Amino acid sequence: MSKQSTEDSPIRLVMHPLVPRLLHVAGIEALTPSMRRITLAGLAPEAPFPFTPMAASDHVKLVFPEAETGQIHLPTVVDDRLAMPEGRPRPIFRDYTVRAHDGGAGTLDIDFVLHQHGPAGLWAIGAQLGDTLGVLGPRGSHIYPSDFDQYLIAGDETAVPAMARWLEELPPGAQATVLVTVASLAEQPALPHRVGTSVTFLDRSVQGAGVLAQAFASVVPVPGRLFVWAAGEAGSLKPIRRHVREVLQLPPAHVDIDGYWKLGVEGLDHHEQDSDD
Ligand SMILES: Cc1cc2nc3c(=O)[nH]c(=O)nc-3n(C[C@H](O)[C@H](O)[C@H](O)COP(=O)(O)OP(=O)(O)OC[C@H]3O[C@@H](n4cnc5c(N)ncnc54)[C@H](O)[C@@H]3O)c2cc1C
Repeated sequence: MSKQSTEDSPIRLVMHPLVPRLLHVAGIEALTPSMRRITLAGLAPEAPFPFTPMAASDHVKLVFPEAETGQIHLPTVVDDRLAMPEGRPRPIFRDYTVRAHDGGAGTLDIDFVLHQHGPAGLWAIGAQLGDTLGVLGPRGSHIYPSDFDQYLIAGDETAVPAMARWLEELPPGAQATVLVTVASLAEQPALPHRVGTSVTFLDRSVQGAGVLAQAFASVVPVPGRLFVWAAGEAGSLKPIRRHVREVLQLPPAHVDIDGYWKLGVEGLDHHEQDSDD
């Protein structure tokens, strides 16, 4: 299914068949002291993986091993809907960005923030070559417009894989301003270099999580059409939503702000945003 973009709604949605996959860890690379890239291999050529250009927020649901048995019980697909494995606890799912896909090698790269507070973060810390992981989706791709005059892109480390895709996939000449908060400036992830882009790292250890909204509010947009994309800890994005609505007064269709996780909440469903958002 594909929804066409229009002047009012320049984001095009393309749906993909729902495919559960069981992949294995074929590569582990340290990106920073608190981020690592895990390359997952085993994509079957008969079920092509949808990797869609200009869809930086494309994500899969990762299915983690059961705590007690270490086994992964993948859901099945019945009438294009997920059916949970019978007689077993509901599997643990978490959303992760598809950082890269190599069709020839049959691999996906996922960049994990390493943190000790939840099953996904802990899995990534302990992952070893040969470990298995379930992967569902992506269910659909939001294909962003490529003809805006300026892109303002903001977030924390969980948004860095999507930011890297933005910078790789925006057409040459597109102007982008990227604001990234990091736990400390010693832990800056590498982002692709491109002409017409400024990338600013902001240190949460000095200024707190509010530094993102402050930096966002100080950006003076260039004349023309502005597209805003932001993701990361949900609470830190609230003032950004407000600024976009009340100060920049952008049409909602020119904005995509997504709470990727929320302090103190396990397995946040990013489709459920707070009502005051
Ligand atoms: C569309 C989408 C794409 C995403 N892409 C990525 C990605 O590419 N890489 C990535 O690392 N994350 C990504 N995330 C965020 C990731 O899904 C969450 O961080 C998730 O909550 C981690 O699951 P968990 O089991 O480790 O923690 P949970 O069980 O969900 O949460 C347990 C506790 O951990 C805390 N917590 C959760 N995440 C973090 C964090 N990052 N840092 C510190 N504390 C945390 C919570 O506040 C909670 O108290 C994405 C989320 C969405 C919605």
